[in-house]
Amino acid sequence: MSVSFDYVIIGAGSAGCVLANRLSADGTTTVALLEAGSTDWNPWIHVPVGYFKTIHNPATDWCYETEPDPGLNGRSLKWPRGKVLGGSSSINGLLYIRGQAEDYDNWAANGCSGWSFNDVLPYFKRSQNQARGASEYHGTDGPLRVSDMSFKRPICDDFINGVAELGTPLSNDANGENQEGVGYYQLTAHNGRRCSSAAAYLKDIKKRPNLTILTHAFAERIGFENRRAHIVHIKHKNEPRIIKANREVILSGGTINSAQLLQLSGIGPGQVLQDQGIDVVIDSPDVGENLQDHLQLRTVYKTRKPVTLNDELSNPLQKMRAGLQYMTTRSGPLSMAASQVFAFCKTRLSNDRPDIQYHFQPLSADSPGEGLHSFSAITASVCQLRPESRGSIHIKSADPTVHPSIKPNYLSTELDCQTAIESIKHARKVMQTKAMKEHIQEEYLPDPAATSDEQLLNQAREIANTIYHPVGTCRMGTDDNAVVDPQLQVKGVQGLRVVDASIMPEIVSGNTNAPTIMIAERASDFILNQR
Ligand SMILES: Cc1cc2nc3c(=O)[nH]c(=O)nc-3n(C[C@H](O)[C@H](O)[C@H](O)COP(=O)(O)OP(=O)(O)OC[C@H]3O[C@@H](n4cnc5c(N)ncnc54)[C@H](O)[C@@H]3O)c2cc1C
Repeated sequence: MSVSFDYVIIGAGSAGCVLANRLSADGTTTVALLEAGSTDWNPWIHVPVGYFKTIHNPATDWCYETEPDPGLNGRSLKWPRGKVLGGSSSINGLLYIRGQAEDYDNWAANGCSGWSFNDVLPYFKRSQNQARGASEYHGTDGPLRVSDMSFKRPICDDFINGVAELGTPLSNDANGENQEGVGYYQLTAHNGRRCSSAAAYLKDIKKRPNLTILTHAFAERIGFENRRAHIVHIKHKNEPRIIKANREVILSGGTINSAQLLQLSGIGPGQVLQDQGIDVVIDSPDVGENLQDHLQLRTVYKTRKPVTLNDELSNPLQKMRAGLQYMTTRSGPLSMAASQVFAFCKTRLSNDRPDIQYHFQPLSADSPGEGLHSFSAITASVCQLRPESRGSIHIKSADPTVHPSIKPNYLSTELDCQTAIESIKHARKVMQTKAMKEHIQEEYLPDPAATSDEQLLNQAREIANTIYHPVGTCRMGTDDNAVVDPQLQVKGVQGLRVVDASIMPEIVSGNTNAPTIMIAERASDFILNQR
């Protein structure tokens, strides 16, 4: 069976939902949005704290795992990625952060013209519906709801004051003129409900007659005619189908799947493709290279008093009360995002702009998504904002259902190792401040016996985890090896763009959902202006 549309978008994630909305808005073109996962019917998707139920759950998560990583003493990590309408924005931590102006100015300085901060700010604003109102940096007319969190606790205030004691300024907006500062995160949420990209951009337009949304539609390969992308081979509910694209195929599968699908379709490093018996359409050596991620060091401190969520939710009755509170007022622990307090700080390694970010939580668990500890404890997760380590994603099989090999190559440069050491030292200093030291009973992670730089680095390798921000595998640029050009068109072929987090040439200094939505907003203008 074959059907045709003007635009065929692969992947209904953070980026894909934006494109489906913008490209179908004026009603003059037909658009198909293909999503491998299901609709976002699962109620836990819409409850902020529900990511504890949706990550590592094959009904909503691709459940990737990295190869054993030498930088993590041979450990593999679970890499959740949303497999549902809304993609990773349906299972993420809801934190709304854009990065630093310099990130985008550097993209532009390195050849990606049209991507400086001044170029992208209007698209951040266009996407946004900021509950605080409009300002120079914020918009109120967009579909993406951004609001303040209602969940606050005294120990969060103390952490904020502790970081401030060390010289980082207090801030009530990490997305304003200057990112440096410490304060409460804003969330992609409205009235205590998650605002995924699907909730923001798809929910109200599903009935547009020129838009077809296919769930359980797994794209297996893009087909070319004279190097023009013209068809997508899919399995829809396990039945093979061909979807024709009259104008463009737009790949928005995310950092793992977009690189994998390009390779499966014959665009990638020639040798990798040939090893799997795939005909090479374009030998594009950097497809799957330049993989970057933020690596979080989750430092955990036991507290003297029962002032943490571990205590508030330690028995079934308390959990029931939290459930009731959410049902009646959409507030309380269930309205909580993945983290409460941000801090963007400078270590001694970066004088000009913040090089580390905190995600502070008044709770602790062995790993995100697992049960809370039975003792009172807090977590100060800290990550390097601009890691230099680069990894790769390569197919291991021509079978599209086989997950590719993911090699993040964490902590593989001197700067990254030094920043990890400084991060742990910084967290220890925060816990010794006037505001925090009364709370702290003992350090739980890392091992308090680790004091030398060598021991601290080894601890970092032992405790580090992804903070779920892989980007960069379909890098935008103007050099020969760049995968897409600054209009996000795949180089060497026609009628094919990549629009998602994979196009970032360098990771932004912060969480990646809002930047990905901005990228899709920007791309929709490129596409519409080219008609
Ligand atoms: C657990 C977790 C927590 C996070 N927390 C935050 C946070 O708090 N704040 C923040 O800013 N960022 C956060 N992120 C990161 C952020 O959500 C992602 O960077 C962003 O969603 C990436 O968007 P994307 O469009 O590139 O990919 P995705 O949103 O992952 O979308 C890709 C879509 O394509 C679909 N797809 C893939 N392959 C195929 C195929 N072959 N055929 C059909 N469909 C396909 C997928 O199912 C998915 O729906 C988090 C991510 C995770 C996983």
